[in-house]
Amino acid sequence: MYELSKEHEDFRAVVREFAEAEVSPHIAQWDRDSHFPAELVPKMGDLGLFGLVVPEEFGGADADFMSLVVAIEELGRVDQSVGITLSAGVGLGINPILSFGSQEQKERFPPDLVAGRALAAFGLTEPGAGSDAGATRTRATRDGDYWVVNGAKSFITNSGSDLTSVVTVTARTGTNDDGSAQVSAILVPAGTPGFTVDPSYHKLGWHASDTHGLTFEDCRVPADHLLGDEGQGFRQFLKTLDDGRIAISALAVGCAQACLELGTDYAKGREAFGRPIGVNQGVSFPIADLAVAVEAARTLTYKAAWLKDELNAGRRSVKEVKQAAAMAKLFSTEAAVSATRTATQVFGGNGFMEEYPVARFYRDAKILEIGEGTSEVQRMVIARGLGLPA
Ligand SMILES: Cc1cc2nc3c(=O)[nH]c(=O)nc-3n(C[C@H](O)[C@H](O)[C@H](O)COP(=O)(O)OP(=O)(O)OC[C@H]3O[C@@H](n4cnc5c(N)ncnc54)[C@H](O)[C@@H]3O)c2cc1C
Repeated sequence: MYELSKEHEDFRAVVREFAEAEVSPHIAQWDRDSHFPAELVPKMGDLGLFGLVVPEEFGGADADFMSLVVAIEELGRVDQSVGITLSAGVGLGINPILSFGSQEQKERFPPDLVAGRALAAFGLTEPGAGSDAGATRTRATRDGDYWVVNGAKSFITNSGSDLTSVVTVTARTGTNDDGSAQVSAILVPAGTPGFTVDPSYHKLGWHASDTHGLTFEDCRVPADHLLGDEGQGFRQFLKTLDDGRIAISALAVGCAQACLELGTDYAKGREAFGRPIGVNQGVSFPIADLAVAVEAARTLTYKAAWLKDELNAGRRSVKEVKQAAAMAKLFSTEAAVSATRTATQVFGGNGFMEEYPVARFYRDAKILEIGEGTSEVQRMVIARGLGLPA
């Protein structure tokens, strides 16, 4: 059902070549320096990566979601930071504007985002609201023709680079009849007075990805910067996260695939006791298990992407995509973390050295189990999908 076409495989080869030519030679340095490679973003734009799922009228290729998954997987196979820059740039940056924005908003922001001249971010998480995203404390109050935003966001990807043009921020705009917070999404352009980007975090991994806390102090944006209708923010970010989870799953597949390739090569070449270490079942069996995990993770990811494309064609339901996205994300990210542990073990002491990419993958993998919904949140979504009162 979800076999990839020749076009997908040809496209995969193009992205792989790009990643090996433009990312691989530099990534160790970028990672060491915690350098966000803004210079790479326009090149990714030229290759069409940011515009894959964007309609042609806004500069995109109008391709299927599967193509985006293939691109993220291939970038992630070489480096996870670059993979998340694309994944967040499209899934959290462009997609909410295209899905819920007005014609004017779609004409204003996406063309530059598609071209890689700009980046957009999605600010949902707060110091006191992550998994429990509905507990958002950031407020937006109406003052004439403006929204006035006050609050703070945490850990926002692509939010503070020189290229960042806009951040979609969720904020309380009132109270629902049942007493719960009414949440809306508002576009806050970079440089708006009262919008401050906090300094970069010192992260365990994803050193070459741009992540910041954001502060809003009496930040005034025009009333027409509301994304969609007032009070729709909760529904909007749940939908945004369904797509984002398939993208993170693809990133995890790329990570696990890299570990498989690196571990297999090393086990063939490294000798101990006068023989390649791979002759020992203590080395080759975990690698065999890793190959199975990669295959299973990829299959779940492609199935979720295929369902998403079928949903877009009106043949599948949101519920099916939600469940498949959570399952793929849960399995693939946990498989990726295990894969980095296996690969690092195969590399022995070298695996602990930053000269070897497995060390970087080891540090980078953990966040996959946390971002866009932790493993526990995925289990909650899946259990609810089964009708359990989770
Ligand atoms: C590098 C990085 C990039 C990020 N990028 C973005 C971004 O671009 N935009 C954005 O909005 N956010 C972003 N995030 C935030 C990320 O999505 C959150 O960190 C994540 O959703 C978890 O929220 P939290 O950190 O508040 O953890 P918490 O919600 O405090 O959870 C802490 C622990 O408790 C567990 N837990 C909580 N509630 C339950 C429960 N009911 N049952 C069982 N376990 C539970 C969690 O699973 C977790 O293990 C990013 C984070 C990082 C680190």
